[in-house]
Amino acid sequence: MDFKTIYFDLYELSPGIYTAITAEKLPSSNAGFFDFGNYLVIFDTLFDPFSTIDLIEASKQFTNKEPSFVINSHYHMDHLLGNRKFPLNIPIISSSKALSEYYKNLNDTLKRYKGIAGQELKRTKEIVKKETEPDKILEYNNDIKTYTEFLDENFTLRPPDFITNSSFTIQGTKNQVQIVHIGDAHTSGDMIAYFEKEKIVFMGDLLFEQPDPSWYTRTNPAPADPPANPQRLCDTLIEYMEKDIDIYIPGHGKICSKKDLQENAEFFEKYFIKNEITKTAA
Ligand SMILES: [Zn+2]
Repeated sequence: MDFKTIYFDLYELSPGIYTAITAEKLPSSNAGFFDFGNYLVIFDTLFDPFSTIDLIEASKQFTNKEPSFVINSHYHMDHLLGNRKFPLNIPIISSSKALSEYYKNLNDTLKRYKGIAGQELKRTKEIVKKETEPDKILEYNNDIKTYTEFLDENFTLRPPDFITNSSFTIQGTKNQVQIVHIGDAHTSGDMIAYFEKEKIVFMGDLLFEQPDPSWYTRTNPAPADPPANPQRLCDTLIEYMEKDIDIYIPGHGKICSKKDLQENAEFFEKYFIKNEITKTAA
């Protein structure tokens, strides 16, 4: 779709079902928005506040609606940090476990962002001075605003506020989706969005375009959290691979196919069920 943003590429997968796939130059997470006819639903927000603002703008422009509510697939900040860009009268839905994980990690998260902000602010201000490419200048200036916001003593995050412990269906006048409560897989309390008729599924971080063992063994940045339940993660990947689905939207990376689900399942089995990652790390 033709939408001007430096942060993502926008695709309409089926009438009313859109995905924002992170731009290659600025790798971040993916999101979606769904026009149900009578509702506009946002699936995941984005880490960068300006990418979330662009996502909201795109959703309004292509559906001629205001967002009705937001769904967080899980509590990780790259999918939830943009929540604060939505007005408070728009409910944000997550699983109850995602909300408790959010609170469990909140202080550490805020400390981490505030911790890196000062240094990043200084560094970004230096680079932007030398930059000549307009898109890059925009990106760096947005980063400067983001880090400045992190340092503000009133800076806070918006948690989900509409909590569920089970799967549910959103039946709109135009489209229908199943929000499937997976439980513990990638994190405690994952949810995915499954359009059965259109053969499309938004997998959140249950699926990556290219999982990499070094995410879990690196030291800087901090290593990625291991999956909450590798067995259920693999079982879910296989279950959805075997369904009649054509389009798989991963949490990170480009649009995936069945082959990617197979590879993800093999990856998590190898490193987290057979535990080869600990052997690699040692
Ligand atoms: Zn995640």
